[in-house]
Amino acid sequence: MVSEKMYELGTKKSTIRTIFEYGRKRALEVGEENIYDYSLGNPNVPAPEYVKEAIIDILNTTDTCAIHGYTVAPGNPEVREILAKDINRRFNTHFTGKNLFITGGAAGAITITFKALSEPDDEFITFAPYFPEYKCFVESVGSSLKVVPAKTDDFQINFEEFSKMITAKTKAIIINSPNNPSGAVYSEATIKQLAKILKEKSMQYNHTIFLISDEPYREIVYNNLTVPYVPNYYDNTIVCYSYSKSLSLPGERIGYIVVPDEVADFAKVYGAIAGAARVLTHVNAPSLFQRVIARCVGKPSDISTYEKNCNLLYNGLIEAGFKCVKPQGAFYLFPQSLEKDDYAFCKKALEFDLLLVPGSDFGCPGHFRASYCIKTETIEKSLPVFKKLANYYKNK
Ligand code: PLP
Repeated sequence: MVSEKMYELGTKKSTIRTIFEYGRKRALEVGEENIYDYSLGNPNVPAPEYVKEAIIDILNTTDTCAIHGYTVAPGNPEVREILAKDINRRFNTHFTGKNLFITGGAAGAITITFKALSEPDDEFITFAPYFPEYKCFVESVGSSLKVVPAKTDDFQINFEEFSKMITAKTKAIIINSPNNPSGAVYSEATIKQLAKILKEKSMQYNHTIFLISDEPYREIVYNNLTVPYVPNYYDNTIVCYSYSKSLSLPGERIGYIVVPDEVADFAKVYGAIAGAARVLTHVNAPSLFQRVIARCVGKPSDISTYEKNCNLLYNGLIEAGFKCVKPQGAFYLFPQSLEKDDYAFCKKALEFDLLLVPGSDFGCPGHFRASYCIKTETIEKSLPVFKKLANYYKNK
């Protein structure tokens, strides 16, 4: 009667949601202040004041029909030009509005890109630990996702395993740096090596292998680290960007796709993106927020809270005896769990009212994710609780 697959996706809650909802119930029993909810990646830093000012100014100065009306499917042409110029200024590229397609956040951008590229039997590859929604996005367009095991010493890329997994069916690779959940940023050496392998394999199989760079956390990096701009290293790169995290606008659904001129068969790829957007009922990205982001280009994102939280939680966990690769960006910590079975570990943590997400959900068992986009006081209060959890394992 209905699609079993859609029924399953709509009713089977993700582990993250299940833990989050458990936390809401538990907070009613023991009080919000006694719950340490590290489950969701929902930014807790308010959207910058300049976003509010832009919204108010647009509402006061622009014709209402223009603000709320349909735009062309790829997005308001003036807005696309402004965004392209800003990307060029920052990354020394040469895009114009015709290289951009404005979307409903990164989720919209990624799904449209998968749909645009996917033909029957195609395979997509990603690297553990990875954003779990990739799997259902890829499968929704009839392709499959292969996952390269994690390189757990630094969460860069396990190139040996990766090379073995590329086949004649490989259509595209999707990377995410700064990474959810590890917080790792791929170094320039990693991106160069990835580009080299993709060029060689594209030649070997005589077809283009695309690289999709999912980068909603691009601006959230610490110690002034530079995040390489991937199209500058590999021609067949498609960038999926979002303002959900950098401007704390996850509910407004705004982001974009960049298709550089250098992408093989540019006109066909951009055309397929427009077609995929059409069948996925994109129509256009939210019209008001297209204008808002155009007003916000070039303005800084405030990442100081995330950096403070990162250092606080990282140092606290190391002191308590946890092992963890220090994040370079995003707002997640991905330590090793204190027992091999990360599900059992996260279940045990619940007894201490610590809400953590098992690494297996990100394709990386033996770890857990803690989203530290929460109040700094909550992190401070949770550190002795993490110590108690660690002591439980020490004395076991
Ligand atoms: N990609 C990654 C790695 C994410 O972590 C998220 C959201 O958490 C998304 C994509 C989707 O973001 P958006 O809100 O822009 O759709």
